[in-house]
Formats: sequence, C-alpha cells, structure tokens
Amino acid sequence: MKTKGNILVVEDNHINLKLIQDILETQQYNVIEALDGKIALEIIDENIGTIDLILLDLQLPEIGGLEVIQRLQSKNSTKKIPIIVVSAHAMESDIKKCKEAGCYDYITKPININGFINKINSFFEALSR
Ligand code: MN
Repeated sequence: MKTKGNILVVEDNHINLKLIQDILETQQYNVIEALDGKIALEIIDENIGTIDLILLDLQLPEIGGLEVIQRLQSKNSTKKIPIIVVSAHAMESDIKKCKEAGCYDYITKPININGFINKINSFFEALSR
C-alpha cells in the first residue's frame, strides 16, 4: 500500500512514541523513529529529501527539541523540513518560542487522537495542493 508520507517522530517516551506511531500507521503514514535529539539530527542528515514532516517533542535527551529546531533552521539542506512540536509545554511563551525558532505548528500533550489525526491529515492535504 502506498503511504501518505514519511514522518519522523522524535519522542523519548516509549508509550507516547508507540501511541503516535500506531495512530500514524493506521492513517497510512510511514513512521521513522528517533528517541533523542542527537539521533534525530543524524537520521535527518542521512535522509535529506525523504522526510515530509517532523513531529518533535521538546524534552529530549542529548539534544533538546528547541535546539533541534535551531540546528535544522541553520542549514540550507534542512531548514525547509516542516516541524510540528508535540509537547506538554503548552505555555504561550513556549509556543511562541517554537514558532519564532521556525516550527510550523504545535500540538499539546496529552494528545487528542481525533484532533491529532485531523491536524496531520490537513497538513498533508495542504502539501499536496
Ligand atoms: Mn520527552
């Protein structure tokens, strides 16, 4: 079956990772996993041009989510990859910080499954338009 797109999920909590992966695979997305920010950056470097979307937690081992955004934004090869932050840090100032750093959108944890699906599907529908 043809997938709707390749999504890199960067999440250090195994339960959250499994939940997000299951939701996305049910929706026919191909999921690539990274358990910390350092591994995420390595995977991105090795897969330039194939990752359609990054779902990024903020609280991560090795390299935190905000720094991941900043590093991706600092390189021409990676700065156009869309990032949606998925984090419990839902204070206005945190959301603003991520948007200023270059993330496209922000989903707050705990995840509302239907809202999550709608957001991801809308993102890909907008991409293909
Ligand atoms: Mn985390």
